[in-house]
Formats: sequence, C-alpha cells, structure tokens
Amino acid sequence: MAERRDLSDEPLILISNDDGIDAPGILALAAAMDGLGAIHVVAPVNEQSAVGHAITVRDPVRARPWPFRVPSGEVPAHAVTGTPADCVKLAINQLLPRTPDLVVSGINRGPNTAVNVIYSGTVSAATEAAILGVDAVAFSLCDWHAEDYESPGRVARLIAQKVLQKGLPHGILLNVNIPARPFEELRGMAVTRQARSRWEESFVEREDPLKQPYYWLSGHFVNLDEGENTDLGAVENDYVSITPIHYDLTAYEHLDALKAWDWDE
Ligand code: MN
Repeated sequence: MAERRDLSDEPLILISNDDGIDAPGILALAAAMDGLGAIHVVAPVNEQSAVGHAITVRDPVRARPWPFRVPSGEVPAHAVTGTPADCVKLAINQLLPRTPDLVVSGINRGPNTAVNVIYSGTVSAATEAAILGVDAVAFSLCDWHAEDYESPGRVARLIAQKVLQKGLPHGILLNVNIPARPFEELRGMAVTRQARSRWEESFVEREDPLKQPYYWLSGHFVNLDEGENTDLGAVENDYVSITPIHYDLTAYEHLDALKAWDWDE
C-alpha cells in the first residue's frame, strides 16, 4: 500500500455510486477527487441502478474492504451488500473516521435528468448525505454506453472544488448531468430546474420454463417541457446541468388551498 500523508486537516470526501464499486464511473470520480482531500470509497458491491432511496432493514448489510487505487495511490474503500442510501448511512455512521466534508456520487452511466431523479440510486446517495447534514453532489454522464469518463471527471473536480469552497445550504444537494462530449466542447455550466417529463411505458410479457408469465418493464422517455432553464435543455445544448434539489417533498404552495377543504365535515 502506498504511503499516505497525514490527511487529518484535509477535507474528507466520501465517494459512492449506484453502478457498483467496480464501475468505470466511480473510478473516474475518485481519480477526479484525488488531491482535493482524503478519499474514502463506500459503494455497492453489485449494481443498484434505479433502486431510488431504498434502504435495507430486513437483511444484514455487509461491508468488506476493497482494493481501490487513485493516481496518488491506494485509498480506503468498502464494498457494501446494500443500496446507495445504505452505503452513505453506513459510511457516515460507522466506517469513516469522522463526518465527511463532502459526499460525491457517480459518475453514473446514463443521465439523471427530469423525473428520473426520483428513481435514481446515484442521486439518492447524495440525498442521504444531505439528510445527514453533509454537502453532496450527484454526477451523471448523459450516455448509457460511455467508456470515456475523462471529460466528466474534469467537470466533477471543478464542481467539487466550488462546493468545498462555498458550501451548500442545509438540505440542498446538487444534481449534475454532464453531456457526453470532450471537455473542450462543453459550453459551460448552467444552473437548471428539472424538466417536466414522463416515461411512456409498456411491459413485455413472456413465459418462464414453468409456464408462468413474467414481465419486463420497457418504455421510452418523453420531454414534456418546452420552457427555459431545464436540465434536459441544458445537456441537449452541451451545457453541464447543475440542479439544486431537496428532499422536503411538501407542496407548500398547496397548503392553504388544502386547509380550506372541510376535513372535519
Ligand atoms: Mn446507475
């Protein structure tokens, strides 16, 4: 193992994802954080894409040390038999020497724009950090088949540096979507909102060897939003999309109208 400096006064950066600890995106994200602080990787041992904010409460969760290298050397890492939210909970409460200064999640294989935020394990790792009071950023690359994570890694480093410098308001995390373009071809950073969108879905029905039907979710994504400043619009125009999101799902603008219903009638 490479010799390590005393990192006690450096920021502590926790790195997680939903594609699994051996995915290329988390390797690129860890490499991108190299030198910004002490790094600790805690990520699912198996892919957990689209598990949303699921947590494991009926089974034991195991964490085993995992060999993980960044350019400057070996960093501590654990592979966890759980979800992204489990990873962040376990890391912050148990595995890390102290509360991290920043949690970064990704770099996800595929976008997490618009309604997909709600299904995303990548975003949920960052959301869990925000719930626990730690600044957090989720990073996604807008290409399901990407192999080159060099450009999004450079973007992630710039954004992590900014967040370490500025800090985030309590309860707010950043959801970053990065176009799959060479770094030089990106047109800049855009602060955006989630586009209105939905999936037009269908199920493929097949029969298993026991003659029982099974179903496989299929569908295509529809952008319903022609408005300005959307995450989808930004990435379509080669801007990095930065959306501040929060986990308080209360629809405050509807509180008064709903109070006016005669609930005790
Ligand atoms: Mn994923």
